[in-house]
Order: sequence, then structure tokens, then C-alpha cells
Amino acid sequence: MHVSDADHDLHDDLDAIVIGAGPAGALAAGLLARAGRSVLLLEEHTFPRFRIGESLLPQSLEVLERAGVLARVRESGYAKKHGAVFVTHDAARSARFDFGDSDPSSRFDHAFQVDRATFDETLAAWAAEHGARVEFGQTVRGITPRDARGRAAVAVADRTLRTRFVVDAAGLEPALDSRRTWSVAPGASPRVALFAHLELATEPHEAFTEAQPGDIVIIERDDVWAWFIPLRNRCYSVGLVADEVTLRNLPAGDAAARFDALAERLPAAQGLLRDATTLLPARGARVPTSRADRLYAGGVARVGDAAGFLDPVFSSGVCVALAGAERLATAIDRSLAEPECETVEFDAYERFLAAAFDAVEPFVATWYDGTLKRLFFHPQPHKQVKAHITSVLAGEFWCADNPAIRGGDAWLRRIGSLISSEGT
Ligand SMILES: Cc1cc2nc3c(=O)[nH]c(=O)nc-3n(C[C@H](O)[C@H](O)[C@H](O)COP(=O)(O)OP(=O)(O)OC[C@H]3O[C@@H](n4cnc5c(N)ncnc54)[C@H](O)[C@@H]3O)c2cc1C
Repeated sequence: MHVSDADHDLHDDLDAIVIGAGPAGALAAGLLARAGRSVLLLEEHTFPRFRIGESLLPQSLEVLERAGVLARVRESGYAKKHGAVFVTHDAARSARFDFGDSDPSSRFDHAFQVDRATFDETLAAWAAEHGARVEFGQTVRGITPRDARGRAAVAVADRTLRTRFVVDAAGLEPALDSRRTWSVAPGASPRVALFAHLELATEPHEAFTEAQPGDIVIIERDDVWAWFIPLRNRCYSVGLVADEVTLRNLPAGDAAARFDALAERLPAAQGLLRDATTLLPARGARVPTSRADRLYAGGVARVGDAAGFLDPVFSSGVCVALAGAERLATAIDRSLAEPECETVEFDAYERFLAAAFDAVEPFVATWYDGTLKRLFFHPQPHKQVKAHITSVLAGEFWCADNPAIRGGDAWLRRIGSLISSEGT
């Protein structure tokens, strides 16, 4: 929906309106407010609200630290995550990546496994404390790019608001309907996730020798993979991801029945699910792999999932959302100070986000075609290769001197074929 001049019933003149108080929107709003900009953050739900996406990466802690909110996140008492463990479906092989072994290294050797209801609430409260006006229960219905006077418009309930910049941080359903300009990563096929919160009788670190308390554990098979994310006291976020065809071929049933049917394909996961108690029943979400072709035009910028979505297998979503929000807030702040810099600033912002997608997409593609799994589960992993991969798993997507990033798909495949030719 676009806003016509006839719709105006309130003329406001804000520096920025941010749509959506997820990690991307809350961080962008808080940073702009902290820089002295007038900011309105509009969120359709009232908080706390459930969100999937609980496993953070070490790189995000740097962003949170620069924002001055890391201490508060720490105080929440979330499980500390020092690494990621990948396990084959039959538990015959496993590989642990410890963030402390990254090369290039991360400033932090850990991240957190967060309950998104409280994590997102913390960030929104922090944004408000820095002067952002936060309004919950406000669904944005349309955005209109800048008019001749340089003002964009946002339609919410019975109001039309004017602003210099709009930040669309509305997640997978962007407030600005721009799906026609989305491109899908090469080789990506539509996937679906089924997930639940469960209290486990057996925790992954009790079942797999490599796993340590706090680690994320990923269990794989060709057609389905599972995540186990420890939240608190044996309570885990557990999810299963499969392509739409696999899902369609399951016996009919509700989300819980399909969750169980998919889990049956992963004996290693079934061992963990035995005698589990359901805390939050299974539900589903689509898992696209696509990014917007343009992230900025006419005073309207996209960030977080509204800018693009990465497959969740490497827990990169919140990391890219937070880092992107920080870079976007800088671009907006500088453009407000010096309007003639706007094109340069937003070109730099687009390149910054593209670099993250370019870093992660080859990992996703080679995960699904099996190349990366061969690398992960090699019985004698090459220490330096592993350290470069660990750096990417820690969220260091902007380290162009990492060969795993510089070489991307070609590097992963070359290493993968070297390993295959060794006959293991
Ligand atoms: C199955 C699955 C598993 C995942 N696992 C992980 C993981 O382990 N680690 C990780 O880092 N990421 C994970 N992700 C990705 C992660 O959830 C997202 O990348 C992250 O939430 C993006 O943050 P965001 O701020 O862009 O959007 P969101 O967190 O989606 O926030 C958007 C906000 O905008 C609000 N909103 C929407 N429309 C409007 C509107 N019209 N008006 C006003 N408000 C609106 C919504 O209510 C919401 O609060 C996963 C995703 C999926 C689907």
C-alpha cells in the first residue's frame, strides 16, 4: 500500500522511522537515537513475544559491546556458547568447532544462546532508554518513498507519518512489499523448519563426547538436519529442516506428528528426544534463501531479514541483522549530517551486507551438496583449514583475508576434492 497526499492526517518530521523491533530494528533505532536523531520505532506485537533464532555468534557480541548493551545481555544469564558440534545422523562421526580456535580470530571466544522473547525485549528497552520513541501494537501498512520535499511516508493505523529515512526491519514479511526484486541464491531450494522447545532427559553433551555444555549441536542427513540449542535447565530449542518435497511426502499430520516423522530419520537425534517433555509444541516456518536486489532507494532502507535471509544452519541471521543495523545507522546518521554523502554511504552499506551474504552462501550451498560435510567429518582435519572455517562459523564474515571468505565456493570445493582424492 502506498500513501497518497490525501491520506495525511498527521505531519511529523522525524529523522527516521524504523519498522519492526527485532534485533535489526531495535539496534538501528537505539544507535540513531544515541546519535541525537529523532527516531520512532514501530512494532506490531506487544513484547515479550516468541521468535525463533536463538543461537548467536561471537561477532555479534562485538556489535552489542560497541552499542553499550552487552553487559545487560550478559546479566540475563543466557547459556554461554563456545562452539558448534556437527554429528552424522548415525552418530558415527562428529566434529566440534571451538570459537577460540578461529583464524582470523574473534574478539570473543563465545556467544550466547538466547531466549528471543527476552533478548529482543532487552534491545527494545535499551533503544527507548537512548531516546527512541517505541510504540508496540502498531502495524505499518505502507511505505511511500521520498516526495519532492525529501520526505518519505509511513502509514500506520489511522496515521501517516513523515520522515527523512524509513528503515524496513520488519523481518521475513517486509513492510515494503518488494518480493519481486528478490533473488534466490544459486542452487537453493525452498525449505521448511519444524521446531519446538523441549525439556530433554538426555542432553547432547551427555550423548556425544565432543559436545560441551552450551554448544549448538547440528545432526545431519542428506534430506534433513536438526538443531539442538540449549536455552536453560535442560530446556532446548530443537528444530528440523527439510526441503518442501521431503515435507510433502511425509504422512499427513499436524506439526508435532511431522516433527516426529522427520526426527525418525535421524537416529542420533532420536536418542536425545527419547522421554523429552514438550514445553512449546512444534510449529513451522518457511526457510527461504534469498536477498533483496537493492537495499536502499528513495529514503527507504532494508535491514535484517527484510534485506535477505540466510539458511539457519550456521546461525548467521541475528549476526547479519545486528551488524547490518549498526552499519545502516552510521549511513543514515552521516547522510543526515551531510546529505551529499548519501549515495556513497548507502552504496557502502549495500556492499557491507552483500559481503556477508557472499561469505555465508557458499557455506550453505556446499553444506547441502555434501562438500562441506566431507570437510567437517574428515577423520584428520587440517588444522589451518579448520581454523579458517571456524572463523566463518563465529560470524567473522567481513574478514576478506580469510581464504574461506576470499575463495568462497571455489576454495571449499578445492579443499573438498583434495580430501576426496586422499580417499577418505
Ligand atoms: C527456523 C529458523 C531458525 C533460525 N535460527 C537462527 C539461529 O539459531 N540464529 C540466528 O542468528 N538466526 C536464526 N534464524 C534467523 C533469525 O530468526 C533472523 O535472522 C532474525 O530474527 C532477524 O532479525 P530481524 O530484526 O531482521 O527480524 P525479526 O526478528 O523477524 O523482527 C522483525 C519484527 O518486525 C515486526 N513487524 C513485522 N511486520 C511489521 C509491520 N508491518 N509493522 C510493524 N512491525 C512489524 C515483527 O513483529 C518483528 O518483531 C532462524 C530463522 C528461522 C526461520
